[in-house]
Amino acid sequence: MTESGPSGQPATAEGGPGARVAQDQLPGGADGMIVCDRLVRIYSGEGIEVQALQGLDLLVAEGELTALIGAAGSGKSTLMNILAGLDAPTAGTVWVAGHNVGAMTSSERLAYRRSVTGFIWQQTSRNLLPYMTARQNVLLPMRLSSLRRRERLRRADSLLDTLGIAQCASRTPDRMSGGEQQRAAIATALANQPKVLLADEPTGELDSATARDVFSALQTANTELGVTVLVVTHDSAVSSQVRRTIAIRDGKTSSETIRHAATDERGTTTLHAREYATLDRAGRVQLPHEMTRRLGMRKRVELQEEPDHIGVWPDRPADQEPD
Ligand code: ADP
Ligand code: MG
Repeated sequence: MTESGPSGQPATAEGGPGARVAQDQLPGGADGMIVCDRLVRIYSGEGIEVQALQGLDLLVAEGELTALIGAAGSGKSTLMNILAGLDAPTAGTVWVAGHNVGAMTSSERLAYRRSVTGFIWQQTSRNLLPYMTARQNVLLPMRLSSLRRRERLRRADSLLDTLGIAQCASRTPDRMSGGEQQRAAIATALANQPKVLLADEPTGELDSATARDVFSALQTANTELGVTVLVVTHDSAVSSQVRRTIAIRDGKTSSETIRHAATDERGTTTLHAREYATLDRAGRVQLPHEMTRRLGMRKRVELQEEPDHIGVWPDRPADQEPD
């Protein structure tokens, strides 16, 4: 007799609360060791604004060793400082090892910097305390750890040994070479077993042979200790040795190269490189400048959808067909 509604449930419009939750979910603190989502950093002061990061996306999986390259001023150090918890983004989100780096309180930030990330600066003099020996430098970050003194000493010596500088344990930095100092810096950064090691041009002040030693120490940290490594480098000899190289351009990740070793039937192993461009959420792709210049591509390109790929062609008159 009475008209009843279809059910007692409130009407749900499309895109209701449930949908919003799903949409807001961040792209996994869980499945990426480093996840940057549309990261923006604007420096403002004295009337000028510099957009150092302009919506940067980045995903680094646990256990990866990734090289970051890009021209001076492209935003590499800005990104590294944000990942290290030394600076905060203007907009966007960053997750490192499950920590929402932009939303930490200052005490959380301190703990984060002490034990989640390790940082290595380009300037060798900035990484170590000059009046302490290599061993004392490595012990320093462990002051607040729960390890007993003997375990700390054992850990410090084992790190120095793993990084190939056991002989420097009792030397102060002025009695170590630049390469040894940077390796001691890596040991110090690893003292509290961080998940992520961040190195901002750690080989920038070194000659190329020494740079190789320091880089191989980073590789050792990655393979033997399992730490995820992100290293900024100018050195193409270095970036060609890593599996994944990401290029930053104008505050955005623009392209990346993935290398893999292939062994042929004669047992010869060669390294193959494949180029990728970043596809952002709006569907934007930045084509490498060298490629577009060679093909005379400007302003507009023609797209052709194929079953398994998309062809990108230089713009041309409508009556000309591609081959
Ligand atoms: P990279 O490390 O790739 O050389 P940076 O991240 O240091 O680049 O700088 C990116 C841009 O931001 C540059 O234009 C730089 O001048 C500017 N920038 C960096 N730090 C500051 C700052 N503290 N104040 C103002 N501008 C800055
Ligand atoms: Mg820099």
